[in-house]
Amino acid sequence: MQSVVQVEPLTTARALRGPFDYVRPEGAEVGSLLEVPFGRQTLRAVVTALADSSPHELAVPRRVLPEAIPPELVALGLWMAREYCSTPARALSLMLPPSGVRAKAQLWAEPTAAGRDPGPEVRLTDNQRALLAALPRFAGTDLGALRRLEKRGLVTVAPRDRRRAPEHVAVGARRDPPVLNPEQEAAVHAIATAGPGERLLLHGVTGSGKTEVYLRAAEQTLRAGAGVIVLVPEIGLTPQMIARFVDRFGDTVAVLHSGLSQGERYDEWRRLRDGEARICVGPRSAVLAPLRGVGLVIVDEEHDGTYKHEGDPRYDARLVAQRRAELSGGVLVVGSATPRPESVHALRRIRLAHRADGARLPPVQIVDMRATAAGTVLHRRTHDALVDARKAIVLLNRRGWSNFLTCRSCGHTWECPQCDVTLVLHRAEGAMSCHHCGHREPVPRACPECASVSLARHGTGTERLEHELARIAPVVRLDAGVANPGEALQRFERADRAILVGTQVVAKGHDFADVDLGVVVDADGTLRFPDFRAEERTFSLVTQLAGRAGRGGGAGRVLVQTLDPDAPSIMHAVRHDSDGFLEGELQRRRALRYPPFATLIRIVCSSTEPGAAHAAAHAVRTAVDAAGGAGDGAMLLGPAPLFRLRGRERSQLVVKGPDRYAAIEAAGVAAAAVRAAKAHRTANLSVDVDPQ
Ligand code: ADP
Ligand code: ZN
Ligand code: ZN
Repeated sequence: MQSVVQVEPLTTARALRGPFDYVRPEGAEVGSLLEVPFGRQTLRAVVTALADSSPHELAVPRRVLPEAIPPELVALGLWMAREYCSTPARALSLMLPPSGVRAKAQLWAEPTAAGRDPGPEVRLTDNQRALLAALPRFAGTDLGALRRLEKRGLVTVAPRDRRRAPEHVAVGARRDPPVLNPEQEAAVHAIATAGPGERLLLHGVTGSGKTEVYLRAAEQTLRAGAGVIVLVPEIGLTPQMIARFVDRFGDTVAVLHSGLSQGERYDEWRRLRDGEARICVGPRSAVLAPLRGVGLVIVDEEHDGTYKHEGDPRYDARLVAQRRAELSGGVLVVGSATPRPESVHALRRIRLAHRADGARLPPVQIVDMRATAAGTVLHRRTHDALVDARKAIVLLNRRGWSNFLTCRSCGHTWECPQCDVTLVLHRAEGAMSCHHCGHREPVPRACPECASVSLARHGTGTERLEHELARIAPVVRLDAGVANPGEALQRFERADRAILVGTQVVAKGHDFADVDLGVVVDADGTLRFPDFRAEERTFSLVTQLAGRAGRGGGAGRVLVQTLDPDAPSIMHAVRHDSDGFLEGELQRRRALRYPPFATLIRIVCSSTEPGAAHAAAHAVRTAVDAAGGAGDGAMLLGPAPLFRLRGRERSQLVVKGPDRYAAIEAAGVAAAAVRAAKAHRTANLSVDVDPQ
C-alpha cells in the first residue's frame, strides 16, 4: 500500500520546489488536487507521485479537492517545466480550471413512474398535466407547482449540475459533409494508419479542404474510443473552425478559450475531464485540456505566431502538442498552406496540392511602389481594382491612423513615457497610444517644445486606410483594436459589396465564398523586422492573404504592393511556390545555424535601476561560460540592449546551440544563479526557449 503522496505546492515562488511528502489521504491518486498545510499557509498542491514510505515526518493534507487532473497531464506539466526553464508549480497551474469556481447546481425535476403519463383517474389541472408532460427539466420558476406534485408522489425534485454552455458564434452556413476528393481520402487514410506517437504535416494549399480532413480524422478517432484536441489560432478572430466542429459533433465538443466566463470555462473543463466531451477545440491553452486517452492532436494553421505563450512557462503549443500525443500514444497532425521550415524538416508530409472545389489559385501580381510619390498609400492600379471588385480583403500590418507625429518646426516626436517607442495616433478615439504598454494620452494641439501647431503625421495604419477605402465601398475593419471580431466578420460575409481591411488577422483561415480581390498594401513591411523569421512571415502573410481570394468557384485576383519586388519571399509567394521558398529558406537556415538546425534561447533581463539590466545579462553570460558553455558548437550573442519597456531598461542575451538539452540546461542554471545573486536582486529575468 503506497501511503505517501509526493506533491508540488502551487505557488509562483521559484525557490519553493517540490516534491514534498504528505500522508496519502483516502482517494488521492497521481493528479489529485489537495489542500495542504505548508508552514503557516494552506496551499493547493498537485500529487505528482505515490511512494511507499518517506524519511520525513509527514503532515496530513487538509482535504482532497474535486479538480483532479489526469495523470498524463502531470507528466506533461513536469516535462514543460524542464523544457521551458520554469517550475512544476507554474506549469501544473495552467492545467487547472479557474479556482474559486464551483459547479452550479440547480433543481431538476423528473416524473416518477406514477407521474409519467397519468391516467384520467388522477385529478390534475390542465396546467399540471402540461407541466408533467414537459419533464424532465430544471425546475426554474415552476418550483412551487412541482413541489406540490412531488408531495403527491408524481415528481422528484433534486439538485443537479447545470452546464453553463458557451454560445458559439456562427459564421458560415451549415453544410452537409462533402464527398472527399482523392487527395483528402489519402490524407485521412494516412492519419488513420499512422502509428502511436507519429507526427504528420498536412501541407495543403489554401482552400484545399484541410478542415474536412481534420473532421474525418476526428470522427475516426472518436469511433476508436480516443479523444481529440484541435488547436486553432487565437479564437476571437477565427470562429469558423469551432462552428464547423460543433456543427458536426454537437455536445461532444468542448471549447476552451479566453472569451468564456469563469463558470463556462469551469464547466467545459469538467465535461472534458469527466469524459462527457471527447473533443476539445481552442487556442494554444487547449493543448492542456484534461482529456484522457488522447488519440489525435491537430494543430491548424501551424505557422501561426499565437501558438507561443508569453507567460511563464513560455511554452510553444506546437511542441507541447507533439509531447502530448507521444505521452498518450496518439497521432500529431499539423496543417498549413505555409508550414514552418521546422515542420517540413522533421515531419512526414502529406500533400493537398489542389483546391477542394477544383478552382485554381488566384493569379498574384506585383505592384511596384518604387516609382510612386512618397506617402502614396494605394497605387492607381490597386485603386482601380478595388473599384471593380465586389468583395475585397485588404491587408496592412499596422494599426491606428498614422505611425507617429512630428513637429514641423523643431522635429519633436511624441514618445511613450514608459517605453522608448513612438506613440501611434488613433484618430477616432482622439488618442495617441503606445502599442507596447497601452499608455494613452490626448492628441496634442501644439508642440510642447516650441508651441508650433504645425504637426506632421507619418505612415499609414489601418484606421487611415479604412477612411480612404470608404470612398470606394462600405468598409469593415478588423484588427486588435476592434471590440467584436466575430461580428465584424459576419457583417463582411453578409454584405453584397464590401472591403475588409485589417492587420494580419484578415489573412487567417477565413473561408468566404465570394472574395474576388486580395490586396497586400505593404508587403515588405514585415521584411524590415530584424529577425530571422522575417522572410518566413512575409511569405506566409502574402500566401495566406492570396488564399482568401477566389474561393467557392468565383474568379479572384491578388495585388501585392511592395518596394522590394525581388525579395525571394515575395517572389515565391507570387508564384504560389511554397516548395521553392522552403527549400531556399532551409538552406539559409542551415548556413546561418538557425532553427531547426539549432535551438535559440533568449534571456531578457530588465530593471528599473539604471545599468542593472545590462549587468544581469552580462552575469548570465559569465555564468554560462564558467559552467563550460552551452554544449558543443554553441554561441552566446550579447548582451544587447533592447528598447525600454514599461519603465524598465532591458538587455538580452541569446544562447544558440545545436545541442538542445545542453543549451536549455546551461541557460536554466545560469539564470537561476543570477536570480539568486544579491548583486542582481533588482533585475528580473525571463528565459524564452524557442522565441518567436
Ligand atoms: P483550407 O483549410 O485547406 O484552406 P477549407 O477547409 O476552408 O480549406 O476548405 C475550403 C472549402 O472547400 C470549404 O468551403 C469546404 O467546405 C470546401 N470543401 C472541402 N472539401 C471539399 C470536397 N471534398 N468537395 C467540395 N468542397 C469541399
Ligand atoms: Zn516643436
Ligand atoms: Zn509604452
